Amino acid sequence: MLTERAARVRDRMVDLGVDVLLLSVGPELPWLTGYEAMPLERLTMLVLPRDGDATLVVPRLEAPRVTERPEVFDLLPWDETDDPVRLVAERVGRAATVAIGDRTWARFVLDLQAACPRARFVRADRVTGPLRAVKDEAEVAALRRAAAAVDRIAAALQAGEIPLVGRTEAEVAADLGRRIVEEGHRRVNFAIVAAGENAASPHHEPGGRVIRPGDVVLCDFGGTMDDELGIGYCSDITRCVHVGEPPAEVRDAYAVLHEAQRAAVAAATVGTPCEQVDAVARRIIAEAGHGDRFVHRTGHGIGVEEHEDPYIVAGNATPLAPGHAFSVEPGIYVPGRFGLRLEDIVVATPDGPEPLNRVDHGLAVVDG
Ligand code: ZN
Ligand code: ZN
Repeated sequence: MLTERAARVRDRMVDLGVDVLLLSVGPELPWLTGYEAMPLERLTMLVLPRDGDATLVVPRLEAPRVTERPEVFDLLPWDETDDPVRLVAERVGRAATVAIGDRTWARFVLDLQAACPRARFVRADRVTGPLRAVKDEAEVAALRRAAAAVDRIAAALQAGEIPLVGRTEAEVAADLGRRIVEEGHRRVNFAIVAAGENAASPHHEPGGRVIRPGDVVLCDFGGTMDDELGIGYCSDITRCVHVGEPPAEVRDAYAVLHEAQRAAVAAATVGTPCEQVDAVARRIIAEAGHGDRFVHRTGHGIGVEEHEDPYIVAGNATPLAPGHAFSVEPGIYVPGRFGLRLEDIVVATPDGPEPLNRVDHGLAVVDG
């Protein structure tokens, strides 16, 4: 699988005229090698030439963490007195065009540019982005497992098994985080719990607000779960519950949101431009009079990163391809009053859109 990925990367480097790919911290390195660099001051860097063998330059004390994959890379540990930038620069040699990972620390980029004065540096995302956006079968399987795990947590929330009333948003968020790990994720990426008026802030930071009867409670949570190679894939789901019967205003807005989300998922067929999926959700919400209350794009790609290509947003004419995995998460936010969002991860397939999240899509009423 990884050798096939490396072959696809090299093919694209040929197409783009890139001579060497340099990957450090960030999502591309684990996607390509199964190894995630520690985000520390000692340089870890994969040097992957278009022709020839790849080398993973890694601090000697971190080398024991690396699962060696000689079919993908040779390991080159460096000692405390070595200069890792020089080791990388020697391998870059006289390359004209070097693609470097987008999240590489500026200090290493600047040092490498100084050490390779003839090279033109471009973003590695140009090479890896379109490849990473199209998931292979193993990746879809990993996303499906992660989605099923957060579905079980959402089901518990909807069934009233997670106590809400009298507790703070932060306490409930901690519960969600604990469950994310118990369900097999390696780490929690986020757990937004927003009650009542706080739900009108899409990326609300859960705090000391105590949940009361009459509140809508918006929960958006996800983590990273390892596949069999130890590469982490993300989950991301949003469900809302209401403590006690919702007032008509909330119920009606939710009905609009529910229909917008359903229609946008159904529209996410292979060949449909990403912006068209956004437009479908937006039109339904706007026609119901909530247009200015839907303040973000409809979705984002997901994989090794929580947010990656393709983005489901106006202006992105990229047609959906089989294997594209992305969220569909319209929202309606009424400042000072309440907010609603409904989110599933969906994969575009030749047989139509496959929603990975299957848990109930309604506004569950809980006693608290
Ligand atoms: Zn989310
Ligand atoms: Zn999302």
